[in-house]
Amino acid sequence: MSEGAEHPSLVRCANCGHEVPDGAYCGHCGASLVAGVAKGRRHAYAAAPAESVYHVGLATTLFPHLARRGNAMFAWCALTGVLVVFVLVALNLFASAAAVAVLLLPVLYLLYLYEARVYGNHPWSVLALVFVLPLALGVLMDVLLGGVITGLALQGDRSLLLVLEILLWPLLALAATMVGPALLLGRSAFEEVLDAVALGASSGLAFNLGVSAVAVWPLLAGPVVSEGVPAQWMLLLLREGVLMALVTMAGASLLSAAIWRRRHGSSKRLDERWFWSAPAMVAVAVAARITVAALGITPRLLLNVLGTIVAIFLLFLYLRLAVHNALLEEGRELEIGPTSTCPECHRLVPTMGFCPACGVNRSAAPRQHRLGGATPARPGETG
Ligand SMILES: [Zn+2]
Ligand SMILES: [Zn+2]
Repeated sequence: MSEGAEHPSLVRCANCGHEVPDGAYCGHCGASLVAGVAKGRRHAYAAAPAESVYHVGLATTLFPHLARRGNAMFAWCALTGVLVVFVLVALNLFASAAAVAVLLLPVLYLLYLYEARVYGNHPWSVLALVFVLPLALGVLMDVLLGGVITGLALQGDRSLLLVLEILLWPLLALAATMVGPALLLGRSAFEEVLDAVALGASSGLAFNLGVSAVAVWPLLAGPVVSEGVPAQWMLLLLREGVLMALVTMAGASLLSAAIWRRRHGSSKRLDERWFWSAPAMVAVAVAARITVAALGITPRLLLNVLGTIVAIFLLFLYLRLAVHNALLEEGRELEIGPTSTCPECHRLVPTMGFCPACGVNRSAAPRQHRLGGATPARPGETG
């Protein structure tokens, strides 16, 4: 490491006014220090600066604690899994395809939780609250409410059926995913916005696993090779196994971030514009969930799948912008710490809220790297 990192030359950040180490980004507020680049640095997402905020990456949006290589591997595994589902469907192995589709994201997610140690020092209580509990609620809701919906459909009560499917189900689903994150976000171990995103995503994924497990159970109990139109099955499994999981995860992450904002907004002096406020986040999550539920009743499956993909894209985009803004605002309270290796760009830099070289927010580092001396010092802490 160069000697300069031990005693970095300081410059004044035009955005926050702090004296910070000279670099591409302000270590305090994350604003770009390069002349001519907007301080909001939308070209470099604060949780993963290699991507633009507008680059709607699956891994960096919902799995923000992975290092760059982990993100690429995760994306390839997800893509390979979807291709395996399509191959199994093409071979008329619908039951196996359904099992892979339903389990693909949950398995990857549990690997991520382990790899990034998102659960901190209490793995079992965290897993119980943001995986087992929402999974059980998903199963329970599908068995109970699903039974009522089937009964109404048989009776031909169309209007009440629509209210249940488009309004009650999405709202109850969002509420069920919030129980665990709401309990955990009060703990001191989970006080960063990226913790809120990861806990919400876990809860949403587990809830969706519960719902889809009930839905595909009769298929799994049936014959190995079955009859059907492969194209229809591909769309159906893509929607139920992958797209609905993504909608539920992103919606739950957004609600979880809204809870975080309510709890920490004033202490972290967050942006007060209404578009990024907690009520706006809740409104976007609810609107997206209801839109996807409404798409679910269209008889045209292709339209349904394409509409759901557009809704996911917009939901992810809003989530990324909201998290990016929160990270830039949140960084202001962090001091200049000792020199350490940045977990994102691997350069030796002064430990601050943001890496002065690549601009990543330190809370995006896997937890074990943060505990290994890279945890930003907070005001009032010694060392
Ligand atoms: Zn600054
Ligand atoms: Zn860096």
